[in-house]
Amino acid sequence: MKVLVAVKRVVDYNVKVRVKADNSGVDLANVKMSMNPFCEIAVEEAVRLKEKGVASEIVVVTIGPNTAQEQLRTALALGADRAILVESADELNSLAVAKLLKAVVEKEQPQLVILGKQAIDSDNNQTGQMLGALTGYAQGTFASKVEVAGDKVNVTREIDGGLQTVALNLPAIVTTDLRLNEPRYASLPNIMKAKKKPLDVVTPDALGVSTASTVKTLKVEAPAARSAGIKVKSVAELVEKLKNEAKVI
Ligand code: AMP
Repeated sequence: MKVLVAVKRVVDYNVKVRVKADNSGVDLANVKMSMNPFCEIAVEEAVRLKEKGVASEIVVVTIGPNTAQEQLRTALALGADRAILVESADELNSLAVAKLLKAVVEKEQPQLVILGKQAIDSDNNQTGQMLGALTGYAQGTFASKVEVAGDKVNVTREIDGGLQTVALNLPAIVTTDLRLNEPRYASLPNIMKAKKKPLDVVTPDALGVSTASTVKTLKVEAPAARSAGIKVKSVAELVEKLKNEAKVI
């Protein structure tokens, strides 16, 4: 079974992001970039499926600038077999990304496509669902357990009230939640080996996809600075403030 994993290059989760002076977006100059954490979980799940003998090949794909090859090499070091970069320097919205992923799906014909549930830069949480709509594949989002059984995949989903398990006909799309697994670290020998694994670079044009945006970002603002808290001397004072100042009791 071939598994396709979509990974996104994002600002590292440890970085405190700064908004550009002209409010047009987040300042990416000299900022550490990494693989989106939910995509690391997606790669890990694919590698585990291969270790179990369920998956035979893992292809990772990213859509982004040439520098996104770094994240593809990381995925190759974690256990993916080959990688595809759809190179675009533009900031693409989810629909454009989903259309490009659909073109890659048509070319690669994977049985399972694994994506993160959301990218931590824009928190969109929509690419997997859009890909599901465009391909017509069954989708299991927010997965905390994935079990392939014959021509079906059972996906346990984290929903508000608890857990829901759905059986999807393959080919299917799964998006990963935080508790699906704990991603491994790449070992040094595997990082070295990854340098020799195949990495193809294609353009959106070559895939026949127009990436014209349907969404325009008007403004990006940092959250308002929070004012400092105060220390109260007694419970009575706390109650008085909650009642008369905060008016919450
Ligand atoms: P989003 O819908 O933007 O929150 O992203 C959800 C998931 O879609 C990510 O975790 C990735 O698996 C995939 N994805 C989003 N953008 C890209 C991209 N530029 N390249 C590859 N995969 C992406």
